[in-house]
Amino acid sequence: MLRSAVRDAAPAGGRRRWREGTGKRAGMTGRITVVEGDITEQDVDAIVNAANPSLLGGGGVDGAIHRAAGPELLAECRTLGGAATGEAKVTRGYRLRARYVIHTPGPVWRGGRAGEPELLARSYASCFARAREIGARSVALPAISTGAYRFPIEAATVIAVREARRALDAGGLEEVRFVCFTRRDADVYRRVLAAAPG
Ligand code: ADP
Repeated sequence: MLRSAVRDAAPAGGRRRWREGTGKRAGMTGRITVVEGDITEQDVDAIVNAANPSLLGGGGVDGAIHRAAGPELLAECRTLGGAATGEAKVTRGYRLRARYVIHTPGPVWRGGRAGEPELLARSYASCFARAREIGARSVALPAISTGAYRFPIEAATVIAVREARRALDAGGLEEVRFVCFTRRDADVYRRVLAAAPG
């Protein structure tokens, strides 16, 4: 798996205090990292699933997570009664390396005037709130809503990074890892992080 250049630039021994993209150490203890890869393979406390409101599986990253976690994941999801857009619910990770999965339905892009940016921000914020409740120190997230739900990647990334920084500022998290399925998406994340440091 390729790791981001920014992550690799973190100074030895200083990673816990490295604030990505700023080029300086900051008072916060967590960091944002960007990797290209498969979220199902991430060795973190919790991974986020870009689910649909049924929480009963689907295509894209949702299907990949269910395949990798095994049928017990679907069985637990059946007990949750779905989730509204912007909400997030936690299950165990079963056969995944991650102990937990945080499922959130992001918004479907309808042109941008139907509250999509606010709803996407709420999805991210809900995921970080759940992560905090379960004591997760490291969380890996896909680019929620940017696949089948068609949210433009640049705008979505600005929201994802803003919410991640808020969560890191709140404390408790050591790593927010953005897992991009394509080089193109990873480049967008790196660009957004570099353009708006801190
Ligand atoms: P949504 O319906 O929220 O748009 P998708 O699963 O269609 O969800 O896409 C969300 C993002 O997840 C897309 O950027 C897609 O490329 C990415 N993706 C798909 N499979 C994986 C995977 N195994 N690991 C990480 N990201 C993935």
